[in-house]
Amino acid sequence: MSNYIAQGSIICKHCGELIDTMPTEKVTVYYSECKQEKCENRESQEA
Ligand SMILES: [Zn+2]
Repeated sequence: MSNYIAQGSIICKHCGELIDTMPTEKVTVYYSECKQEKCENRESQEA
């Protein structure tokens, strides 16, 4: 893992699935929603 580039991971806050990654200065985790229908429905229920 020594050659692994530090990057931010975008994780679905509902199901925990890796949505995307983006280059960052250090490893960071961002929480968002994936495009699965169950997660979108869950989001609307929480709001
Ligand atoms: Zn999800």
